[in-house]
Amino acid sequence: MEVLEKQREFFASQKTKDVAFRKKTLQRLQKEITLREDAIAEAIYKDFKKPKFETLAAETQFVLAELRTTIKKIKYWASPERKSASLLNWPSSDWIYKEPYGAVLVIAPWNYPFQLAFAPLISAIAAGNTVVLKPSEATPHTSAITAEIINTVFEPEHATVIEGGVEVSQRLLNEQWDYIFFTGSSRVGQIVYESAAKHLTPVTLELGGKNPTIIDETAAINLAAKRIVWGKFLNAGQTCIATDYILVHTNVKAKLIEALKQHITKCYGENIQESSDYARTVNAEHYNNLKTMLEGQEILFGGECNDKDNYLAPTLVNEPSLDSKLMHGEIFGPILPIIAYETEADIRKHILNYGKPLATYVFSKRKKFQEKILNSYSFGGGAINDTVIQITNKNLPFGGVGASGIGAYHGRLSFDMFSHQKAIIKKANWFDAPLRYPPYNLPMQLVKKIKHLF
Ligand code: NAD
Repeated sequence: MEVLEKQREFFASQKTKDVAFRKKTLQRLQKEITLREDAIAEAIYKDFKKPKFETLAAETQFVLAELRTTIKKIKYWASPERKSASLLNWPSSDWIYKEPYGAVLVIAPWNYPFQLAFAPLISAIAAGNTVVLKPSEATPHTSAITAEIINTVFEPEHATVIEGGVEVSQRLLNEQWDYIFFTGSSRVGQIVYESAAKHLTPVTLELGGKNPTIIDETAAINLAAKRIVWGKFLNAGQTCIATDYILVHTNVKAKLIEALKQHITKCYGENIQESSDYARTVNAEHYNNLKTMLEGQEILFGGECNDKDNYLAPTLVNEPSLDSKLMHGEIFGPILPIIAYETEADIRKHILNYGKPLATYVFSKRKKFQEKILNSYSFGGGAINDTVIQITNKNLPFGGVGASGIGAYHGRLSFDMFSHQKAIIKKANWFDAPLRYPPYNLPMQLVKKIKHLF
């Protein structure tokens, strides 16, 4: 592939190792994104009616914040990091050098089409790599403006966008990369991992999962409902860390359902289809798939839909069967199943039915219960008494575990993720302890104490 060869040549020229050059490029990117903030919101709106507030908060401002921190810290992050030395090597100074991998491939999904394309690109460039970015074909307007921005800021040998769908993605995956960053479904994540394995290419896989939200009988029900409704119906449920299903203690289930209904109406009004604050499902295929999940279910609220623009109302479903399509995989839409539990064994049965989720949320006033859930189950990340907000702190790693992904990023972690951590010991010449060299004359009793010198 010509562009990849060009990127390899450019990387070999050492130009991307120049931190001042990286910083200038990121500043240009910052300028071009800022100039187009309204146009980006317009593009995402055309793709699936994402409310402008949600685009500003979760897409452009999120990316601009990541850029601001990276530009501020890049010199510090890129500098070799000194580590305390081992007495065994005395006299020495010990370091981690941050070495860019080389040619990075980023494959993005459609649900946060701007954030999830630009956030990895920014850190890959900051760390001194070249990038080929493939945005999702499901959001063509955002894909086009992404290409426009990247083509304005970068020479193609440094970073470029290759637009297209599955075939383009597969063609890219057939090439040998130095790092692959993929965000998308677990199904495609497996395909990406297999392609990477052929060349032993390191990967970050940001995947999905079936995220439980557990509500016990001590929870502040009204506030819990408010926070769950926000996190679930934001982006019309198409958020990888949104609640997938609720496990609620049977004693507070009725109260929770009433509160959920009230908060949905408070947020989106009586005529939700007319609300400018509610997005659409991304395309007919995804919309039809969601509709089939509702077949045969007991709907407590919502369920209305409109084929003309893939509108599906915020929908509450009562006690779906575990065999139903709704409870098989990740829902990734505005459907919220509510399941009652009585004992902790019930909770366990449900959670262990699925692969390790990307997020888990607990609403409870009992610290012991909160800690028990946090320590008993494996999942990417989560929150106590809230949902989704763990993504907003760039000091926290964002990523999955097991079926929900490999690796984590944001803030400095992203920079380190796109850098090989090269361990270097700088040894002085003025002293050379004779003890390690043959003939080995050290008494064995002393060798057995060596652990104290490591
Ligand atoms: P997807 O896996 O269908 O597509 C993601 C990307 O992969 C797209 O660019 C697409 O063109 C490409 N692709 C699709 N099929 C392919 C194939 N067979 N071979 C090679 N490439 C292929 O995912 P999506 O529908 O765009 O996004 C939704 C999924 O992404 C959900 O599962 C969601 O949980 C997950 N997600 C995860 C995160 C995270 O940060 N962990 C964030 C957003 C979305």
